[in-house]
Amino acid sequence: MKADLVIASRNEKKKRELLQVIGDLDLEVATLNEFPQAPEVEEDGMTFRENAVKKAREIADFTGRMTLADDSGLEVDALGGLPGVHSARFAGEPSNDERNNQKLLEMLEGVPAQERTARFRCVIAIAFPDGRVETAEDTCEGRIGFTPRGQAGFGYDPLFIPDGYDLTFAELSPEVKNRISHRGKALQKAKKLLQSI
Ligand code: IMP
Repeated sequence: MKADLVIASRNEKKKRELLQVIGDLDLEVATLNEFPQAPEVEEDGMTFRENAVKKAREIADFTGRMTLADDSGLEVDALGGLPGVHSARFAGEPSNDERNNQKLLEMLEGVPAQERTARFRCVIAIAFPDGRVETAEDTCEGRIGFTPRGQAGFGYDPLFIPDGYDLTFAELSPEVKNRISHRGKALQKAKKLLQSI
């Protein structure tokens, strides 16, 4: 199969989101759906960076193609950085956004607005068949609301109010979210890396 860049994910939505940013780079992009035998990479690192690098490295070794992987999550200051790398399964298996949001609200009960600061963090790793790995990282600062609001997006979006806005990520349009989000900004940096190759 011809591909210049493999996205280490089976999520076609991620591919679409990525193509919105790097679609003009003239790269043939594939996801793991085009490599059904690819291994399931366990995200057992202590940091987003470790997980992103591990995923990109293992899939690049398997496919022999330049591979992009990302890992992201929410860090809440009043909880010492939790849920962090445990964001997807914060309330246990299987991953469930509603239960994760409920658990976060419970753990923040009694915490006043000014102490509910938080950030989303995203690390993107690009691994090359020759063993090299480059990373790009960015964050989106904000605070955690008191009740879920909005229908758009996924994950913790209904609880996250980015700095400079009164609306949650789930109430903002996808265009605005992509412009200011951790993932959108990290992807712009990853694009510069790809352009420099
Ligand atoms: P992933 O690494 O992109 O799969 O994200 C891991 C988890 O972090 C997701 O399951 C969400 O709970 C959370 N997360 C990451 N990015 C976002 C976001 O943009 N909005 C809401 N939740 C997010």
